[in-house]
Amino acid sequence: MLQLSLVQRRIPQALLLIGDDGAGTVALALELARTLLCEAPHITERTYDRCGDCHSCRQSAQLQHPNLQFVLPLPAGKAASEGELTTALVEEWRDVVSEVSIDPYVPLRLQQASAIRIGQIRELKRMLAMSSAAGGRRVVILHHADDMNTEAANAFLKTLEEPHTDVTLLLTCERPEVLLPTIRSRCQELIIPPIADEDLTRYLIKSESLAEQEARLVTAFAQGSLYRARRMAQEQVSDERRLALELLRTALRGKDYRIDLVTLVDHICEGKQRDRVDNVLSLLSVWLRDARCVAVSEHHATLVNSDQYDALLRFSQGFGQADFDQALSVLEEAAADIHRNVALPLLLLSCALQLRRVFAAARQGSPTPSSHPVAV
Ligand SMILES: [Zn+2]
Repeated sequence: MLQLSLVQRRIPQALLLIGDDGAGTVALALELARTLLCEAPHITERTYDRCGDCHSCRQSAQLQHPNLQFVLPLPAGKAASEGELTTALVEEWRDVVSEVSIDPYVPLRLQQASAIRIGQIRELKRMLAMSSAAGGRRVVILHHADDMNTEAANAFLKTLEEPHTDVTLLLTCERPEVLLPTIRSRCQELIIPPIADEDLTRYLIKSESLAEQEARLVTAFAQGSLYRARRMAQEQVSDERRLALELLRTALRGKDYRIDLVTLVDHICEGKQRDRVDNVLSLLSVWLRDARCVAVSEHHATLVNSDQYDALLRFSQGFGQADFDQALSVLEEAAADIHRNVALPLLLLSCALQLRRVFAAARQGSPTPSSHPVAV
């Protein structure tokens, strides 16, 4: 569809790309921007491709084209607009953009970024009002448009209503429902679907050299994101699963669990790696889903952790009556908090203790003595 719009020179002024970053939303935005900026595109009746060789293409390959601008959410309290960035933020911005120029599946995000602010939209407006530095088409990538605060969104709407010559606005967002309907109605929308599970699994086996079992485990919670899948593959999913299960096992132990639990939580959170904590929570979710399957059904063809069948069976015998939905929502809430500014050990510890409560409720009335260690 995009190719055809390009061939017919009917690229809309504003395009809204809806989808997860890891599924290729940024990759598509960058490819489109590079193609639009190319000085000597190869055009046929049905295709329109950048040449990859002209001055523009070389500049845009590194995302250093003067006519290519980014608007990204900024961390709270650090700067009101791009013009006021601190030196440290300017450096971080440059690093993030340069990383994305090499691998468009890496998150295009500043640390603790929270919102796109009105100052940024005013700056964008000023920039669009001036004639372009290098002449020719200008492309603005407004990334995570759903992070615009209300003031910024209202100001942006006005920008959208004004005609601009030779300007293409590429918006990306993961939650279109929070955008103003008036903004959405002025953009042509394009949905980027999550990457299919089979494709991810095949990719992991081929490019990351995972065994099939491991590739399937990674795919199960990558949720269609290549970035997530790759990150998990490189961080050795089996080791992290072992940590995740140890966490569950320790949290559910009858007594004398506290010191071990704190030690283990500290170990998992060492180095403040949010990604690692995120992985551990995701692995636990997948594992509990499997345990629920084993508890309710004889058919186990769809188990992700099929190599752990005995452990799953033991767990489902002890906790088959537990409220799995509640346990899964505890994990989901913790995962959502990871990228907010929370202390990781506290988050993980509180999550483990909540799981303990959920599963303890299932064990009440069971003949197992409370001091008996739980088989996980
Ligand atoms: Zn070119």
